[in-house]
Amino acid sequence: MPTTIRGAKTFVDEVAAEPGGEKINECIQCGVCSGSCTTVEWWQYPPRKIIAMIRAGKREEVLSSSSVFNCVTCYLCTVRCPRGINPTQLIHAVEAIAEREGYRPKTPTLKLFRSLREAMKQGRVWELGMALRFYLPSNILLGFKNIGLAWSLVTRGLMPILPPRKVKGGKEVAAIMNRVHEMQKAGGK
Ligand code: SF4
Ligand code: SF4
Repeated sequence: MPTTIRGAKTFVDEVAAEPGGEKINECIQCGVCSGSCTTVEWWQYPPRKIIAMIRAGKREEVLSSSSVFNCVTCYLCTVRCPRGINPTQLIHAVEAIAEREGYRPKTPTLKLFRSLREAMKQGRVWELGMALRFYLPSNILLGFKNIGLAWSLVTRGLMPILPPRKVKGGKEVAAIMNRVHEMQKAGGK
């Protein structure tokens, strides 16, 4: 059952009142965020459209869609947004509302994020390890389908079989990733 935030008259007001959603009314609908988004093929409605739908009051459609749960916090949209809106935080603001309302669509992004975090523990991403950590628990069949692609990357020297050597500052990178993990756990409760 949807809850109503006291004083919020419209869905756009509700999003604007959420940390990260403050600048939603400054969006000029240029579409740079959607064009930059690294996971957009998974989104039912890309970031620009999500913003347009929020302004149009399409609360149920936005919150029940899995779209915002697909953000992997890569910040590409944020560094490119010409209005300084920080679409990353805006999308997470909508995600926070959806979570509070009990919408928890199944998406592979959490597994993808965890595999990235583990793969960076040496201070540099080990792509093969990341792919194994992602595909084995989430979609092993898709993993098998991508073996040909993986092999061509390995044989061209673009995807090392062995993990990279520890790089200078690797410990600090691992500490940062662990801290991000702790902050996410704390913020998600
Ligand atoms: S890039 Fe920024 S201004 Fe352009 S549509 Fe996305 S949020 Fe709006
Ligand atoms: S931060 Fe999220 S919304 Fe922005 S480009 Fe990355 S995945 Fe897409």
